[in-house]
Amino acid sequence: MARWDLIGQDATVARLEATLQGGQVPHGLLLAGPRGTGKGTAARKLAARLLCHREAGQAPCGECPPCRHREAGTAPDLITLPAEGEEEIRVDPLREMVAQVQLTPQESRLRVVILDPAEAMGAHAANALLKVLEEPPGEVVFLLVSHRSDRLLPTIRSRCQLLRFRAVPAGEVEKWLEESHGLAGGDARLAARLSGGAPGRALEWARRSLVAERDAVLEGLAAARDRGGESLLEVADRWATGESAAWLPHLQAWLRDLARVTVTAGQAPPERLVNADRRERLVQEAGRFGPASAERLLRAGEALAEAEAGRVSTRLALEELLFWWRDPETMPRTPPSTS
Ligand SMILES: [Zn+2]
Repeated sequence: MARWDLIGQDATVARLEATLQGGQVPHGLLLAGPRGTGKGTAARKLAARLLCHREAGQAPCGECPPCRHREAGTAPDLITLPAEGEEEIRVDPLREMVAQVQLTPQESRLRVVILDPAEAMGAHAANALLKVLEEPPGEVVFLLVSHRSDRLLPTIRSRCQLLRFRAVPAGEVEKWLEESHGLAGGDARLAARLSGGAPGRALEWARRSLVAERDAVLEGLAAARDRGGESLLEVADRWATGESAAWLPHLQAWLRDLARVTVTAGQAPPERLVNADRRERLVQEAGRFGPASAERLLRAGEALAEAEAGRVSTRLALEELLFWWRDPETMPRTPPSTS
Protein backbone atom coordinates (compact mmCIF):
# COMPACT_ATOMS: atom_id res chain seq x y z
CA MET A 1 0.00 0.00 0.00
CA ALA A 2 3.07 2.19 -0.32
CA ARG A 3 1.37 4.07 -3.10
CA TRP A 4 -1.21 5.48 -0.70
CA ASP A 5 0.97 5.54 2.42
CA LEU A 6 -1.86 3.98 4.39
CA ILE A 7 -1.75 1.13 6.86
CA GLY A 8 -4.62 -1.01 8.01
CA GLN A 9 -6.99 0.37 5.33
CA ASP A 10 -6.75 -2.37 2.70
CA ALA A 11 -10.47 -2.55 1.91
CA THR A 12 -10.71 1.22 1.48
CA VAL A 13 -7.60 1.33 -0.70
CA ALA A 14 -9.01 -1.47 -2.88
CA ARG A 15 -12.22 0.52 -3.37
CA LEU A 16 -10.27 3.65 -4.19
CA GLU A 17 -8.18 1.85 -6.77
CA ALA A 18 -11.24 0.21 -8.32
CA THR A 19 -12.93 3.61 -8.59
CA LEU A 20 -9.89 5.16 -10.25
CA GLN A 21 -9.23 2.24 -12.61
CA GLY A 22 -12.88 2.24 -13.66
CA GLY A 23 -12.55 5.90 -14.59
CA GLN A 24 -15.95 6.70 -13.08
CA VAL A 25 -15.03 8.95 -10.20
CA PRO A 26 -18.15 10.18 -8.39
CA HIS A 27 -18.68 13.90 -7.87
CA GLY A 28 -18.53 13.53 -4.10
CA LEU A 29 -16.34 11.26 -1.98
CA LEU A 30 -16.59 11.27 1.80
CA LEU A 31 -13.43 10.06 3.52
CA ALA A 32 -14.65 9.38 7.04
CA GLY A 33 -13.08 7.84 10.13
CA PRO A 34 -11.12 8.58 13.29
CA ARG A 35 -8.45 11.28 13.42
CA GLY A 36 -4.96 10.28 12.32
CA THR A 37 -6.01 7.32 10.17
CA GLY A 38 -4.73 8.83 6.90
CA LYS A 39 -7.87 10.42 5.42
CA GLY A 40 -6.19 13.74 4.66
CA THR A 41 -3.15 12.04 3.14
CA ALA A 42 -5.40 9.87 0.98
CA ALA A 43 -7.41 12.90 -0.18
CA ARG A 44 -4.26 14.75 -1.24
CA LYS A 45 -2.89 11.70 -3.07
CA LEU A 46 -6.21 11.17 -4.76
CA ALA A 47 -6.25 14.83 -5.83
CA ALA A 48 -2.77 14.41 -7.30
CA ARG A 49 -3.92 11.48 -9.43
CA LEU A 50 -7.04 13.22 -10.61
CA LEU A 51 -5.18 16.39 -11.58
CA CYS A 52 -2.21 14.77 -13.35
CA HIS A 53 -2.24 14.52 -17.14
CA ARG A 54 -1.74 10.75 -16.87
CA GLU A 55 -4.71 8.42 -16.56
CA ALA A 56 -6.11 8.49 -13.01
CA GLY A 57 -5.43 4.75 -12.76
CA GLN A 58 -1.68 5.50 -12.75
CA ALA A 59 0.59 7.21 -10.24
CA PRO A 60 1.00 10.96 -10.89
CA CYS A 61 3.95 11.72 -13.18
CA GLY A 62 5.42 14.56 -11.14
CA GLU A 63 6.36 16.41 -14.32
CA CYS A 64 3.26 17.72 -16.05
CA PRO A 65 2.14 21.32 -15.30
CA PRO A 66 -0.60 20.29 -12.81
CA CYS A 67 1.87 18.06 -10.93
CA ARG A 68 4.50 20.80 -10.78
CA HIS A 69 2.02 23.46 -9.79
CA ARG A 70 0.49 21.22 -7.16
CA GLU A 71 3.87 20.57 -5.58
CA ALA A 72 4.48 24.32 -5.54
CA GLY A 73 1.07 24.89 -3.95
CA THR A 74 -0.23 26.83 -6.96
CA ALA A 75 -2.34 24.28 -8.88
CA PRO A 76 -5.15 26.36 -10.42
CA ASP A 77 -7.59 23.42 -10.44
CA LEU A 78 -7.12 22.40 -6.80
CA ILE A 79 -9.12 24.21 -4.14
CA THR A 80 -8.62 23.42 -0.46
CA LEU A 81 -10.95 24.69 2.24
CA PRO A 82 -10.62 25.97 4.91
CA ALA A 83 -7.83 28.18 3.60
CA GLU A 84 -4.48 27.85 5.33
CA GLY A 85 -4.52 29.40 8.80
CA GLU A 86 -8.32 29.33 9.06
CA GLU A 87 -10.28 26.91 11.18
CA GLU A 88 -13.74 27.41 9.78
CA ILE A 89 -15.03 26.95 6.25
CA ARG A 90 -16.75 30.30 5.90
CA VAL A 91 -19.60 30.87 3.51
CA ASP A 92 -17.85 33.52 1.35
CA PRO A 93 -14.85 31.43 0.28
CA LEU A 94 -17.23 28.51 -0.21
CA ARG A 95 -19.42 30.55 -2.57
CA GLU A 96 -16.30 31.71 -4.41
CA MET A 97 -15.35 28.06 -4.85
CA VAL A 98 -18.83 27.24 -6.16
CA ALA A 99 -18.49 30.01 -8.77
CA GLN A 100 -15.03 28.80 -9.73
CA VAL A 101 -16.04 25.18 -10.31
CA GLN A 102 -18.66 26.27 -12.85
CA LEU A 103 -15.77 27.24 -15.16
CA THR A 104 -13.79 24.81 -17.29
CA PRO A 105 -10.65 23.55 -15.54
CA GLN A 106 -7.50 25.45 -16.51
CA GLU A 107 -4.95 22.68 -17.00
CA SER A 108 -6.39 19.38 -15.74
CA ARG A 109 -9.35 17.24 -16.80
CA LEU A 110 -11.07 18.06 -13.54
CA ARG A 111 -11.18 20.51 -10.73
CA VAL A 112 -10.68 18.97 -7.28
CA VAL A 113 -12.06 20.52 -4.11
CA ILE A 114 -10.77 19.23 -0.77
CA LEU A 115 -12.84 20.10 2.32
CA ASP A 116 -10.75 19.11 5.33
CA PRO A 117 -12.34 18.87 7.80
CA ALA A 118 -15.74 19.07 6.13
CA GLU A 119 -17.47 19.49 9.51
CA ALA A 120 -15.80 22.90 9.80
CA MET A 121 -18.70 24.28 7.71
CA GLY A 122 -21.38 26.42 9.27
CA ALA A 123 -25.04 26.08 8.23
CA HIS A 124 -24.85 28.63 5.38
CA ALA A 125 -21.72 27.10 3.92
CA ALA A 126 -23.22 23.61 4.22
CA ASN A 127 -26.34 24.67 2.33
CA ALA A 128 -24.27 26.24 -0.43
CA LEU A 129 -22.24 23.04 -0.73
CA LEU A 130 -25.36 20.92 -0.77
CA LYS A 131 -26.72 22.92 -3.72
CA VAL A 132 -23.61 22.33 -5.80
CA LEU A 133 -23.54 18.63 -4.83
CA GLU A 134 -27.14 18.32 -5.98
CA GLU A 135 -26.34 19.75 -9.38
CA PRO A 136 -22.60 19.44 -9.84
CA PRO A 137 -20.93 20.87 -12.91
CA GLY A 138 -19.44 18.12 -15.07
CA GLU A 139 -15.77 18.52 -14.30
CA VAL A 140 -15.41 18.63 -10.54
CA VAL A 141 -14.75 16.15 -7.73
CA PHE A 142 -15.40 17.06 -4.10
CA LEU A 143 -13.33 15.25 -1.48
CA LEU A 144 -14.88 15.64 1.97
CA VAL A 145 -12.55 14.62 4.80
CA SER A 146 -14.26 14.13 8.13
CA HIS A 147 -13.60 12.65 11.55
CA ARG A 148 -17.05 13.76 12.70
CA SER A 149 -19.20 12.84 9.72
CA ASP A 150 -22.22 12.65 12.07
CA ARG A 151 -22.04 16.44 12.12
CA LEU A 152 -22.52 16.77 8.36
CA LEU A 153 -25.96 17.28 6.88
CA PRO A 154 -27.44 13.83 6.07
CA THR A 155 -28.30 15.21 2.63
CA ILE A 156 -24.61 16.02 2.06
CA ARG A 157 -23.54 12.57 3.25
CA SER A 158 -26.02 10.84 0.98
CA ARG A 159 -24.69 12.69 -2.09
CA CYS A 160 -21.18 11.32 -1.53
CA GLN A 161 -19.68 7.88 -1.95
CA LEU A 162 -18.41 6.81 1.47
CA LEU A 163 -14.81 5.70 1.97
CA ARG A 164 -14.52 4.52 5.55
CA PHE A 165 -11.22 4.62 7.43
CA ARG A 166 -10.96 2.39 10.48
CA ALA A 167 -8.99 2.56 13.70
CA VAL A 168 -5.90 0.38 13.26
CA PRO A 169 -5.04 -2.25 15.93
CA ALA A 170 -2.13 -1.17 18.16
CA GLY A 171 -0.04 -4.17 17.10
CA GLU A 172 -0.24 -3.16 13.42
CA VAL A 173 0.62 0.44 14.25
CA GLU A 174 3.63 -0.68 16.27
CA LYS A 175 4.87 -2.88 13.43
CA TRP A 176 4.50 -0.02 10.96
CA LEU A 177 6.39 2.40 13.22
CA GLU A 178 9.25 -0.05 13.34
CA GLU A 179 9.30 -1.22 9.72
CA SER A 180 8.55 2.02 7.92
CA HIS A 181 10.02 4.57 10.30
CA GLY A 182 12.68 2.70 12.28
CA LEU A 183 10.96 3.55 15.56
CA ALA A 184 10.98 0.74 18.10
CA GLY A 185 11.18 0.26 21.86
CA GLY A 186 9.09 1.49 24.75
CA ASP A 187 8.27 4.92 23.31
CA ALA A 188 7.02 3.44 20.02
CA ARG A 189 4.99 0.78 21.80
CA LEU A 190 3.35 3.31 24.09
CA ALA A 191 2.70 5.65 21.12
CA ALA A 192 0.97 2.83 19.21
CA ARG A 193 -1.26 2.00 22.19
CA LEU A 194 -1.92 5.60 23.15
CA SER A 195 -2.91 6.60 19.61
CA GLY A 196 -6.19 4.68 19.76
CA GLY A 197 -5.66 3.24 16.29
CA ALA A 198 -4.45 6.44 14.59
CA PRO A 199 -1.05 5.83 12.93
CA GLY A 200 -0.58 9.53 12.15
CA ARG A 201 -0.85 10.43 15.81
CA ALA A 202 1.31 7.49 16.85
CA LEU A 203 4.08 8.57 14.47
CA GLU A 204 4.07 12.07 15.89
CA TRP A 205 4.23 10.75 19.45
CA ALA A 206 6.74 7.96 18.85
CA ARG A 207 9.43 10.57 18.18
CA ARG A 208 9.03 11.97 21.68
CA SER A 209 10.35 10.54 24.96
CA LEU A 210 6.87 9.28 25.57
CA VAL A 211 7.56 6.84 28.40
CA ALA A 212 9.45 9.49 30.39
CA GLU A 213 6.65 11.96 29.71
CA ARG A 214 4.00 9.48 30.91
CA ASP A 215 6.03 8.71 34.03
CA ALA A 216 6.27 12.43 34.79
CA VAL A 217 2.48 12.60 34.57
CA LEU A 218 2.19 9.70 37.03
CA GLU A 219 4.62 11.41 39.43
CA GLY A 220 2.56 14.58 39.14
CA LEU A 221 -0.60 12.66 39.99
CA ALA A 222 1.07 10.98 42.98
CA ALA A 223 2.29 14.35 44.27
CA ALA A 224 -1.17 15.88 43.83
CA ARG A 225 -2.51 13.53 46.49
CA ASP A 226 -0.49 15.30 49.20
CA ARG A 227 -1.29 18.84 48.21
CA GLY A 228 -3.60 21.42 49.74
CA GLY A 229 -6.44 22.95 47.71
CA GLU A 230 -4.65 26.13 46.71
CA SER A 231 -1.63 24.27 45.55
CA LEU A 232 -3.83 21.90 43.50
CA LEU A 233 -5.23 24.91 41.68
CA GLU A 234 -1.70 25.93 40.80
CA VAL A 235 -0.95 22.44 39.52
CA ALA A 236 -4.08 22.47 37.34
CA ASP A 237 -3.07 25.86 35.99
CA ARG A 238 0.41 24.68 35.15
CA TRP A 239 -0.79 21.46 33.51
CA ALA A 240 -3.35 23.29 31.43
CA THR A 241 -0.79 25.50 29.71
CA GLY A 242 2.36 25.19 27.66
CA GLU A 243 4.03 21.87 27.11
CA SER A 244 2.09 20.13 29.84
CA ALA A 245 -1.00 20.29 27.62
CA ALA A 246 0.62 17.32 25.86
CA TRP A 247 -0.10 15.37 29.04
CA LEU A 248 -3.82 15.18 28.45
CA PRO A 249 -3.71 11.97 26.37
CA HIS A 250 -1.60 10.31 29.09
CA LEU A 251 -4.08 11.29 31.77
CA GLN A 252 -7.00 10.04 29.69
CA ALA A 253 -5.31 6.71 29.01
CA TRP A 254 -4.38 6.29 32.68
CA LEU A 255 -7.95 6.93 33.78
CA ARG A 256 -9.34 4.46 31.22
CA ASP A 257 -6.79 1.83 32.24
CA LEU A 258 -7.67 2.33 35.90
CA ALA A 259 -11.36 1.91 35.10
CA ARG A 260 -10.57 -1.38 33.29
CA VAL A 261 -8.47 -2.61 36.19
CA THR A 262 -11.10 -1.71 38.78
CA VAL A 263 -13.96 -3.49 37.00
CA THR A 264 -11.89 -6.62 36.34
CA ALA A 265 -10.46 -6.66 39.89
CA GLY A 266 -6.94 -6.39 38.52
CA GLN A 267 -7.40 -9.10 35.87
CA ALA A 268 -7.61 -6.86 32.76
CA PRO A 269 -5.65 -8.53 29.92
CA PRO A 270 -2.47 -6.56 29.08
CA GLU A 271 -3.51 -6.01 25.45
CA ARG A 272 -6.52 -4.04 26.70
CA LEU A 273 -4.30 -1.65 28.68
CA VAL A 274 -2.45 1.30 27.17
CA ASN A 275 -0.03 1.35 30.08
CA ALA A 276 0.49 -2.39 30.29
CA ASP A 277 4.12 -1.74 31.26
CA ARG A 278 2.89 -0.07 34.49
CA ARG A 279 0.41 -2.77 35.39
CA GLU A 280 1.56 -3.16 39.00
CA ARG A 281 1.12 0.50 39.64
CA LEU A 282 -2.32 0.42 38.03
CA VAL A 283 -3.44 -2.43 40.28
CA GLN A 284 -2.05 -0.68 43.34
CA GLU A 285 -3.73 2.62 42.49
CA ALA A 286 -7.03 0.95 41.59
CA GLY A 287 -7.17 -0.18 45.21
CA ARG A 288 -7.92 3.41 46.22
CA PHE A 289 -11.02 3.50 44.05
CA GLY A 290 -12.87 0.22 44.07
CA PRO A 291 -15.16 -1.19 41.34
CA ALA A 292 -17.90 1.39 41.92
CA SER A 293 -15.56 4.16 40.70
CA ALA A 294 -15.08 2.84 37.17
CA GLU A 295 -17.82 5.01 35.76
CA ARG A 296 -16.47 8.11 37.50
CA LEU A 297 -12.98 7.35 36.15
CA LEU A 298 -14.33 7.04 32.63
CA ARG A 299 -16.27 10.27 32.97
CA ALA A 300 -13.16 12.08 34.20
CA GLY A 301 -11.31 10.78 31.12
CA GLU A 302 -14.12 11.97 28.84
CA ALA A 303 -14.03 15.43 30.42
CA LEU A 304 -10.32 15.63 29.50
CA ALA A 305 -11.07 14.47 25.96
CA GLU A 306 -13.62 17.29 25.69
CA ALA A 307 -10.96 19.68 26.96
CA GLU A 308 -8.43 18.38 24.46
CA ALA A 309 -10.94 18.96 21.67
CA GLY A 310 -11.36 22.53 22.91
CA ARG A 311 -15.00 22.13 23.92
CA VAL A 312 -14.50 22.74 27.66
CA SER A 313 -11.89 24.55 29.70
CA THR A 314 -8.80 22.39 30.26
CA ARG A 315 -8.02 24.13 33.54
CA LEU A 316 -11.49 23.46 34.96
CA ALA A 317 -11.46 19.83 33.86
CA LEU A 318 -8.04 19.37 35.49
CA GLU A 319 -9.11 21.12 38.71
CA GLU A 320 -12.07 18.84 39.02
CA LEU A 321 -9.95 15.78 38.30
CA LEU A 322 -7.21 16.69 40.76
CA PHE A 323 -9.57 17.46 43.67
CA TRP A 324 -11.38 14.21 43.10
CA TRP A 325 -8.09 12.38 42.69
CA ARG A 326 -6.92 13.57 46.11
CA ASP A 327 -10.15 12.54 47.89
CA PRO A 328 -12.10 10.06 45.78
CA GLU A 329 -14.29 9.12 48.74
CA THR A 330 -15.38 12.58 49.83
CA MET A 331 -16.19 14.17 46.49
CA PRO A 332 -19.83 14.26 45.46
CA ARG A 333 -20.38 11.91 42.52
CA THR A 334 -21.63 14.52 40.10
CA PRO A 335 -20.84 14.48 36.40
CA PRO A 336 -17.86 16.64 35.43
CA SER A 337 -18.76 20.18 34.49
CA THR A 338 -19.19 20.77 30.79
CA SER A 339 -19.16 24.54 30.77
ZN1 LIG B 1 1.48 14.74 -13.75
